[in-house]
Amino acid sequence: MTDYMTGLVVREPGTPAALAELKLPEIGPGQVRVRVRAAGVCHSDLSMVNGTLAPPHPLVLGHEAAGEVVEVGEHVTRAAVGDHVVLNWQPACRACWFCEHGQPWLCSTSHGVAAMQSGITLNGEPVHVTLGVGAFAEQVVVPENAVIPVPRQLGFDLAALLGCAVLTGTGAVRNTAQVEPGESVVVVGLGGVGLSVVSAARAAGAGQVIAVDVSEAKKGLAEAAGATDFVVSSDNLSKEIRSRTNRLGADHTIECVGRASTIRAAWRATRTGGQVTVVGMGAADDMVQFSALEIFSSARILRASVYGQADTDLEVPALARDVLDGKLNLDHLITDRIGLADVPAAFDRMARGEGARSVVSL
Ligand SMILES: [Zn+2]
Ligand SMILES: [Zn+2]
Repeated sequence: MTDYMTGLVVREPGTPAALAELKLPEIGPGQVRVRVRAAGVCHSDLSMVNGTLAPPHPLVLGHEAAGEVVEVGEHVTRAAVGDHVVLNWQPACRACWFCEHGQPWLCSTSHGVAAMQSGITLNGEPVHVTLGVGAFAEQVVVPENAVIPVPRQLGFDLAALLGCAVLTGTGAVRNTAQVEPGESVVVVGLGGVGLSVVSAARAAGAGQVIAVDVSEAKKGLAEAAGATDFVVSSDNLSKEIRSRTNRLGADHTIECVGRASTIRAAWRATRTGGQVTVVGMGAADDMVQFSALEIFSSARILRASVYGQADTDLEVPALARDVLDGKLNLDHLITDRIGLADVPAAFDRMARGEGARSVVSL
């Protein structure tokens, strides 16, 4: 095996991500070594470096990825050398209370872990890998339940997106909001997840899909994804949404930003008795306020959707089939194809609200 590889590492909080030479561990029983072939730049990676989250360091970034299995440890049954796999940052243990009660996306063995050690080292010091993956690197070492084999015909770059943005976005529509034909859906925040929500809402038969972003430049992407309306976000958002939904507000608003201000805006854009689905992951100290009376009188439902509320082992292969059958078009999602060293520039584009997904090819 190759002992050393290149990865994108943040050494200390507040310092820029830079390429570093990392040493791979010998793999143990139940582990799989994957050569990463494509990795998407997700907003959660930006949250690891901009202070929204406080992960341990040194930290290898990246978690939305696909690649090829190059080595399997003892007792591994899920994957074989040569398999093409999507990496799963929330692998289900199938044994905890949540897994045994049909909610593997809340698996208590991995839920909420920003980063962990996987045996990879930097100058002899253990490094942490983002969400148990650390995919902005030539290789990853993960437990076998963190790989999901997919058909070889699916390109690595689209496969990578299935592992986070697409699963999260389609799952929010299908599993959490359960959008019905003819309903109106507002989507706030048009990054990779938000655009996946737009596509999935349209595919679910939503009558109106109103895409909202702070950047006018997202209009073309929103329309390519299937939005019927595009609105630039402002303080008058709820008024604007009401004017487009018979003065009622939307049946569903799906918030893909993760900020108190946009959750409040989503709440106000939703009709009485409608549902707000929060997909965005925000900061621990960003407080959202609701009065006791409005919670009662609006009769709205406020729900979070974690990782698409999906059983990844079933839904990732199903999404792969949808892509191969032409039922799910993801081509508009990839706006930039880049190298590992270009990830910091991709973070800058993301922070400025430009483009959809940047995908690293390795
Ligand atoms: Zn992600
Ligand atoms: Zn579990």
